[in-house]
Formats: sequence, structure tokens, C-alpha cells
Amino acid sequence: MIYARYFAEQLTERLFVIGQEPAMGGLQVIDSHVYLVNGASSVLAIDAGSGASWPFVAAVAERYGFAEKPFAYVLTTHGHRDHAGGLPQFESRGALTVSSVYTADHLESEENADILFDEDSSLDLIEFRADAILTPGHTPGCASYRLEVDGNLCLFTGDLIQTDGGLGWSGSEGFSQEQVLASLKKLAAMPAPDFLLTGHGLVVGGRQLLEKAISYGESGRWVPWTEHAPPMP
Ligand SMILES: [Zn+2]
Repeated sequence: MIYARYFAEQLTERLFVIGQEPAMGGLQVIDSHVYLVNGASSVLAIDAGSGASWPFVAAVAERYGFAEKPFAYVLTTHGHRDHAGGLPQFESRGALTVSSVYTADHLESEENADILFDEDSSLDLIEFRADAILTPGHTPGCASYRLEVDGNLCLFTGDLIQTDGGLGWSGSEGFSQEQVLASLKKLAAMPAPDFLLTGHGLVVGGRQLLEKAISYGESGRWVPWTEHAPPMP
């Protein structure tokens, strides 16, 4: 199997993404994006990746001068292995895992969650403040996270939708297209994000992507692609 290349990018002064390029020409994507927020004294991650990207995460921390800081928290959007398999590496650097209660019970990782929420919550994470928003659909326990980074409202949505507005993988236990649509409408009714940061693919914008996905869902243009489920490592 040939895998899509990894990339790392600085999105704003303190916000970074490490992930695999979109699958093309038969290349396989086996890993989620890992987003890092370089705080004053610690680093926050959104999703841990499969673990395969850990060397790239460490390289970014080194390159941008925050390798000495502990990883304080990993906010997990859901428990699939490509998003949660790397939690042990983050925990070995001091991180606490934050997840919804459902995700904590369905965490495909050797680590357990440390901080749980079962409703929309404002999380006070020492130097970081994040809103956890339950956005079920891809899994029943999926959560999105909203943080302000460098003056930008950033919304991390995991596998709720892809960057073309299509569905994230529809083959997971408890998948619900109706819930995806309801979750998208819930997010669209909130203040428009400057960055909408999905679990895979490119970084393409904020509200426009939410509106595109909602119009796809309402017009029946979402094609479930269960049979093309991404292989898990
Ligand atoms: Zn997933």
C-alpha cells in the first residue's frame, strides 16, 4: 500500500497542522490531522493522529521552538484509531485527554480519557479556553471544539464533513446522516468561524463550507461511501 505524504503547515503564528495530504491516485490516507496550539507555557493538541505522525509533530515542535514545552491537553473529536491512536505519545509528554463521555467509552487507543463532558461545555484548561460542542453524526459521541487562536475563531470538526462538503466516513458504528445535518445546522447557527478545521483534507475556510455541506445534505447529494471505508492501521 502506498500512503499519501505527510505535510506540516503553520496556519497562524501559534496554530499548526500536521497531517496527510488528500488521497489521490490510489494513495491511502490512514491518519487524521493533528492541530497544535503553541501556548505561553504549554501546547494544546486537537486530535492525536494514529501515532504515525508523532515524529512530524515532534519535528514541528522542534522547528518552531516549543519542543521544551509540555503537551497539556489533547481535545479528541472522536475515538477512531486514526484520531486517537497517538494519544499515548501525547500522554507520555504530559497531556491529559479530553473527550465526550461516549467517545471515552469508544476510544480506539491504549490511553483512557481524563476529562469528560456530556453536554456542550466551556472548558477552562489552564491557559486555554475552549468550547466543546456535541456534534453527533459521524459517531454518536463526536464533538467539535471552538477556540480563539491569534484573534481567529477556529472550529475543529473532526470527521463530521470532508473539505468538499461531503460526508466523513459513513461506515462507523452509530453513523447517522440526519444527525450530521442537525449538527451542521447547529454549528451554522453559531458565530461564523474564521477557520473551519476538519480532520482530513485541506484547510478551506469557515462558514462557506458549513453552508455547502448543509445544501448537499438537504438536496440528497450526500452519497454514503461505507464500502470505501478508509483502512485503519
Ligand atoms: Zn472518524
